Amino acid sequence: MILRTFQESRPTLYSAQTSPGNGKVCGVCGTSVLAQYRNGVPDEQQWKAAFDHLLSETDYPLIALQPTNLLPTCKFCNSDAKLAKDVLHNARKERRLSFDPWKESAFGLVQMGIDFHATGPAATITFVPNNPVVAEKMETWNAVYDIKQRVLGEFSSLGLKISDDLDLDSLTDLRLSLFKQQRKRLACMRVSPYNYWRALLYAGMRALRDDELDQVRQLFQEVYASELADCDAIFGDLLA
Ligand SMILES: [Zn+2]
Repeated sequence: MILRTFQESRPTLYSAQTSPGNGKVCGVCGTSVLAQYRNGVPDEQQWKAAFDHLLSETDYPLIALQPTNLLPTCKFCNSDAKLAKDVLHNARKERRLSFDPWKESAFGLVQMGIDFHATGPAATITFVPNNPVVAEKMETWNAVYDIKQRVLGEFSSLGLKISDDLDLDSLTDLRLSLFKQQRKRLACMRVSPYNYWRALLYAGMRALRDDELDQVRQLFQEVYASELADCDAIFGDLLA
């Protein structure tokens, strides 16, 4: 639902040999693989991704087992976030709109950025729907699968998370690495978890003014330097 629609994603999100998509990233959240792929293991013995009943068997028994109601998702979407939530009704039993994941997606309608809190820079997520209907569907997607909390949780240690693939040596180096990494992460959005979200975050960082981005760079450089010093102290023998 975030990585294009499931229909569009079929050739690349799912693997012909290892159905349904072992090793590929979950299209609902972009934060986890559908199921781990084990090298050298026959297809019939590979672990399988969960099939989420988009509409539950309990509430919608007549359509629960139709193929389009069975959505391959990661275990976090299925077993931790969604559980028994009804995509068509909120907690107060009021009707709400929901994406059809086979035909619709939030791709291109989410932005990430950096907010400057008193405690330091923090990642942000903003939905940018193109009309009120899509806005409601995006809120349902977030409410059912806890998208914002999960993504912002990943980036709660923001300095360390982005330091592992950005060059913080200078503002010029940082801008160049942001461009390169945004491109790489987008190209590989189905290859590794959070690649899509990292691409959005780097796009948001590229939009910062020079003085703002340099402030972020210096703060995160200190965090990363401290982590490197710890690494050298603990693993000095291995690094020699
Ligand atoms: Zn997922």
